[in-house]
Amino acid sequence: MRNIRSVTPLIDPFGRKVSYLRVSVTDRCDLRCVYCMAEDMTFLPKAQVLTLEELDRLCSAFVALGTRKLRLTGGEPLVRRNVMWLIERLSRHLDSGDLDELTLTTNATQLGRHAKDLVAAGVRRVNVSLDTLQPDKFTRITRWGDLRKVKAGLAAAQAAGLSIKINMVALRGVNDDEFDDMIAWCGDLGQNLTIIEVMPMGDIGGETRVDQYMPLSMVRAQIARHWELEDIDYSTGGPARYVRVRENGVRLGFITPMTHNFCESCNRVRLTCTGTLYMCLGQDDAADLRQALRTTESDEVLHDAIREAITRKPKGHDFVIDRRRQQPAVGRHMSVTGG
Ligand code: SAM
Ligand code: SF4
Repeated sequence: MRNIRSVTPLIDPFGRKVSYLRVSVTDRCDLRCVYCMAEDMTFLPKAQVLTLEELDRLCSAFVALGTRKLRLTGGEPLVRRNVMWLIERLSRHLDSGDLDELTLTTNATQLGRHAKDLVAAGVRRVNVSLDTLQPDKFTRITRWGDLRKVKAGLAAAQAAGLSIKINMVALRGVNDDEFDDMIAWCGDLGQNLTIIEVMPMGDIGGETRVDQYMPLSMVRAQIARHWELEDIDYSTGGPARYVRVRENGVRLGFITPMTHNFCESCNRVRLTCTGTLYMCLGQDDAADLRQALRTTESDEVLHDAIREAITRKPKGHDFVIDRRRQQPAVGRHMSVTGG
């Protein structure tokens, strides 16, 4: 049953209600996708990372302030030790009706172990990142991943009753020959697909973004040669725009931060595993909530720190992929803020 209590919702200076929190529970990962991480990443020292109890307290403070949706991400959320403890703890907010959804974004390598427990904890759907269906290419993109493990994870998730959305980053010259296969495969699986433009975040070593970048207008035109795409009136309040593939019913999303400005409807903020709150994925301004968390037991102080941060949510992002400037527009990696 829903708890009746009066909370002043988090509203930013542009009138947008902030009701969605993404939490990167670890910056670590068992893969090293070429567009996301350098091969020799230096990860955060454990002492800087919030404990699971601290993450629970912080997420719960957001829920008390009107957050209706929590997405755990990373790095790879399922490689964080005892992460199921956190998920089970957070599920009390689903039981109370204070939270509409608890979900995660995962590379699926560990889903085989966790799918049943996730369902038991009230998780109903997950986003799975998968950029190719070809085993060799998968190993190249992730630097050492094994596609069989991902497929086993997906099968376990389906068997447990989780609904799955596949996220595919469009990479020029890498997987731009696979959109048709991916749409057909998702249709067979009975799941949906979202294609994402690569974003200029973090130093990734040898590769350059300009080489990888592919505008989704081009991707859509390519897909439309073989599939009939119907516009649909569906939105999650996020950056994706959706169509329906008439032939197999797949709902196909396009996330186009580079070519389409989605900021006017943004309802989300992002918390790192060190307790830093980023009010925008594409901006560097941030609030340190760890200090508020560690220096006081008072939730009031924590709530005030969160409210203050929301007053700084910017109007929009600054992503630019610039041929002259080879630096990423945002210095931190996606694995810090979570996708
Ligand atoms: N490890 C999990 C996974 O891969 O799903 C969760 C974290 S990952 C950082 C979240 C999402 O961000 C993935 O879908 C990934 O493909 C995407 N991503 C990472 N770096 C990106 C970049 N530079 N541009 C666009 N998407 C990116
Ligand atoms: Fe890991 Fe996800 Fe980044 Fe790939 S995209 S390296 S799976 S965090």
